[in-house]
Amino acid sequence: MSEATRTLRGMSVTAPPDAAVELLQRVFGYDAFRGRQQEVVDAVIGGGDAVVLMPTGAGKSLCYQVPALVRRGTGLVVSPLIALMHDQVDALRAVGVRAEFLNSTQTVPERQEVERALLAGEVDLVYIAPERLSSESVRGLLDRVAAGPGLSVFAIDEAHCVSQWGHDFRPDYLALADLVGRWPGVPTMALTATATEATHRELTTRLHLEQAVHVVASFDRPNIQYRIVPKDDPKQQLLKLIRDEHRGDAGIVYALSRNSVEQTAKWLVDHGVEAVPYHAGLDVRIRTANQARFLRDDGVVVVATIAFGMGIDKPDVRFVAHVDVPKSVEGYYQETGRAGRDGLPSTAWLAYGLQDVVQQRRFIDQSVGDAAHKRKQSANLDAMLSLCETVTCRRRQLLAYFGQPTAQDCGNCDTCLSPVETWDGTVPAQKLLSTIVRLQRERNQRFGGGQIIDILRGKRTPKVEQHQHDQLSVFGVGADLTERSWRSVLRQLMAQSVVMVADDYGTVGLGPTAAAVLKGEHQVRLRHDLERSDSGAGSRKARPVAADLPPEAHELFERLRSWRAGQAKEQGVPAYVVFGDATLRALAVERPQSVEALSGISGVGAAKLERYGDVLLDLLAD
Ligand code: ADP
Ligand code: ZN
Repeated sequence: MSEATRTLRGMSVTAPPDAAVELLQRVFGYDAFRGRQQEVVDAVIGGGDAVVLMPTGAGKSLCYQVPALVRRGTGLVVSPLIALMHDQVDALRAVGVRAEFLNSTQTVPERQEVERALLAGEVDLVYIAPERLSSESVRGLLDRVAAGPGLSVFAIDEAHCVSQWGHDFRPDYLALADLVGRWPGVPTMALTATATEATHRELTTRLHLEQAVHVVASFDRPNIQYRIVPKDDPKQQLLKLIRDEHRGDAGIVYALSRNSVEQTAKWLVDHGVEAVPYHAGLDVRIRTANQARFLRDDGVVVVATIAFGMGIDKPDVRFVAHVDVPKSVEGYYQETGRAGRDGLPSTAWLAYGLQDVVQQRRFIDQSVGDAAHKRKQSANLDAMLSLCETVTCRRRQLLAYFGQPTAQDCGNCDTCLSPVETWDGTVPAQKLLSTIVRLQRERNQRFGGGQIIDILRGKRTPKVEQHQHDQLSVFGVGADLTERSWRSVLRQLMAQSVVMVADDYGTVGLGPTAAAVLKGEHQVRLRHDLERSDSGAGSRKARPVAADLPPEAHELFERLRSWRAGQAKEQGVPAYVVFGDATLRALAVERPQSVEALSGISGVGAAKLERYGDVLLDLLAD
């Protein structure tokens, strides 16, 4: 505990802390509210509505849980993912909160028991799936609870799901709008980690929350190290990342296709990594089992399509890796944000290559939808590519994208850690453009990037000979650069829209700025790519959670971790429901030797102290 919090606690003897802080300390075992939690909590306890935009890991749950417990009655929480309700309820019960859920997986008697408890005022918090709330009988039940024991708050989690243009739209969420205001005096809360202003505006109007307190927290996630590397051999690069920096850590690997999910998962398993696949094409039982393994066991890697992740509140995900480029910065930031919710050092790693650009541009061309929709998708992709190719601080670019510009470089992204060198790529760009022009003018042909690079490098492949491309005047004019360098040039020219994917076959054509480059009116700046197969760690690698602990603490940490695994297994709950990594770290470092000292550790509240206190003191005394 820091000197400051010690004094604060000392002072609280004379001036009693407010009910919310008292509850935070007693029930959850935390010293103080973080960031802007208190603002929200105070407003809602005072009876006001709130719209809460905070990044993943900021602690949105406490924003509704604390007011729900301080105010009279039951807190109603809408949560879209049935599969995860169980874990949320388990985590609350572990700290002594009377939590229940209502969803379609329950049997009739189970549901009736929850209804009885609700009407008897025996429930602090109830989690409800959005589709349940469309049912008149459930609405009637809630009306009776409101009129009887009372509703303390009406919290809508993942509130961006009401946005019809967003990436997670759920029709059930639209129906929630007519519940807002149904129970006068019950504060409504909408919470999300989606950061854009458009989503904010849309959910505010749809849920009639214009009068609410709006708290938009900083979207910075300083504990996440952002890294984007050129893709050479993505599986090998990924394995290196895991072996060098995240051995035994839990992580999420995102891939675009089901096929690539399956292959990557298998490859990791073959190389000794505990990995499971997850995508919509898997049998639902296998999918659920894989998700449960990822959530419950320590150190499992899940390889998934973007179908995976919303509502996953596992706090100790140490890395999120993308082996294909995401479609938008919004999606990317939300996916990477699933790393390090517990605030400990974590990695967001992306491998990105020429093929990704070609493929994504083709997806957009082939997608159904009108021109405006395609333009929006193109703009999203351009923003993502520009993040990939930036030579300045990635975090600054990300935060600026979300309307929160910062003045300082972050010091914890790859471009900050190993500054990128740039070079003047105008001449190679002109050579490449001339090749495209000659193929078009002299032969009326278009080709993909591979053939263009072979022509530039003067490589006599069967395809070159078949088309007599060795007769072109540009044949071999780019022999001074390696094939890898040419791919890097082409990729960056594509990201900068100097060249474009011309058709469904992935052939390459001139982009909007090609003419200016050819005439020498526009200089092309390119970045030097890193060494082959480098995982981009630069000079400072992210470290495993316990690596920086002193040796004695390290050993104790591991002992606590295996004790925790046993507990979790016995109770059938995820390990973090027993204690989070941050709490285990604090225990290992501070080695509390009394009940008093133990209760001062962050994450040890009254219920857990009672349940585990003696065992922990024994473990710590050894
Ligand atoms: P979000 O829903 O915003 O992604 P969570 O509510 O899951 O975030 O919280 C992330 C982690 O931070 C959890 O492990 C939670 O227990 C912890 N946490 C939240 N608020 C505090 C706090 N005031 N002090 C210490 N830990 C906190
Ligand atoms: Zn930076």
